[in-house]
Amino acid sequence: MRSDKLFVPPVLVGAACGAAVRVLERRRRRCVAPSSGVCVVAPAARAINESEKWQCEEESSMPTCPGCACLCEDIEIAGAEIRNVCRKGFGIFRSRQKSRLSAMVADGVTDVDAAIEKAAEILCEARSPVIYGLDNSTCEAQKLGLELARKLNAFVDDTSSVCQGVVLEAIYKGRLPSCTLDAVRDNADLVIFWGADPASSHPRHLSKYSFFPRGKKIQRGYEERKAFCIDVRHSPTAEVCKNLVKIPVGADTALINALTSIIEGKTPQLPEVDRRAVFELAAAMRRAEFVTIFTGLGLVYSLEDVSLLESLLRTLTERHGCEAYVIPMVGHFNMRGMTQLLFEETSLPNKVKFEGGVARGGASMTDILHEGLADAALIIGSDPLSSLPFVAARRLLEMKTITIDPHVTPTTEISTVRIPCAISGVECGGHAVRMDGVEVTLEKAFDTEFLSDEEILKRLLDRV
Ligand code: SF4
Repeated sequence: MRSDKLFVPPVLVGAACGAAVRVLERRRRRCVAPSSGVCVVAPAARAINESEKWQCEEESSMPTCPGCACLCEDIEIAGAEIRNVCRKGFGIFRSRQKSRLSAMVADGVTDVDAAIEKAAEILCEARSPVIYGLDNSTCEAQKLGLELARKLNAFVDDTSSVCQGVVLEAIYKGRLPSCTLDAVRDNADLVIFWGADPASSHPRHLSKYSFFPRGKKIQRGYEERKAFCIDVRHSPTAEVCKNLVKIPVGADTALINALTSIIEGKTPQLPEVDRRAVFELAAAMRRAEFVTIFTGLGLVYSLEDVSLLESLLRTLTERHGCEAYVIPMVGHFNMRGMTQLLFEETSLPNKVKFEGGVARGGASMTDILHEGLADAALIIGSDPLSSLPFVAARRLLEMKTITIDPHVTPTTEISTVRIPCAISGVECGGHAVRMDGVEVTLEKAFDTEFLSDEEILKRLLDRV
């Protein structure tokens, strides 16, 4: 990796155009704080001579990785090499060459124009359509998806209704305080991964933001930052953090109550856990000046009431004067963008239904399928047949389903209309919102013959 020196190719010196400035800006940032940890250079770097080096620099691009909601902005593509990306992100870039979807109507291969025509016809004829997904699309495509739903008086939902939606809604409503990942890197002296395993799910999270890096205030990085894992198993993240509070499945609410009691100076009702580990965690929380809890699905699925988490943070702040925040470990790279857009436009983060162009509370995709509330589905960049309960997802077989996806998935396989699209953030650009709410620019890294999902949605909008 060439992160030791700032290398500015002559073509960029003095350039006033926005793109050049952005590239320089990113390179400068990368040189100040080089990434560490689990990054890979793929495929294995070969030695390059001086003239090749100049050529390489001129041809290199610095896209953002859409592999997860960390949205790492320091990825570098030069020729056949992709640098700084983790293995998960590398899989996204490599997926350009694997399992690409073909345009199909029923079982017959067709062209994209015919598939879009048929999709528009199905949507126009539907009495109660549902639009689902968009978490792997750019903000621009999400806006068009919402416009389409309004025009069709459709249900709209995304995967947040079965995962981080409840935490995101509390953040948008100002009930749960949240901060940026950059603030965590600079200031957090205690981080808690609760039901989350970023070492597996967001491979560069620990090295870029939450545990290892040096920050403005925490200048010795992980040497002066304490990290705890609360989990039902000894996860790879627990291995890194060293401090594990192992709890039985479903004991999260009891642990939140116990921690709140200890911080208030009361005797806690402890679930069946290692008492010493719980008291050590409570002591670390009382000593800390800047605490961040990263909420994973393990916590969200077992959390009975999000207000308990609010009360834990409030107690910590009021009793000990520390800053305490929550950041949800959002998985899909732009789920936060989708929920934020829905919340801004409809005051709901998911489960929306339009009627006469006006939004009201709808139902989750699971309930829509289970109760047969929709007769047609437009699924964009999602695979409900794999991710939703099968008893609900199998209902997709009984309705007209249109999927827009770059790849073949179980859901595309059972769809009436399949429309292939470019991979957002790899083959088309736009904007996305990182897990902490920071907007990030996505740049196209490779040319493609596929239309972006934004363009496909634009065409559908023109036809319905
Ligand atoms: S951590 Fe996420 S965004 Fe960063 S390189 Fe890995 S997959 Fe991509």
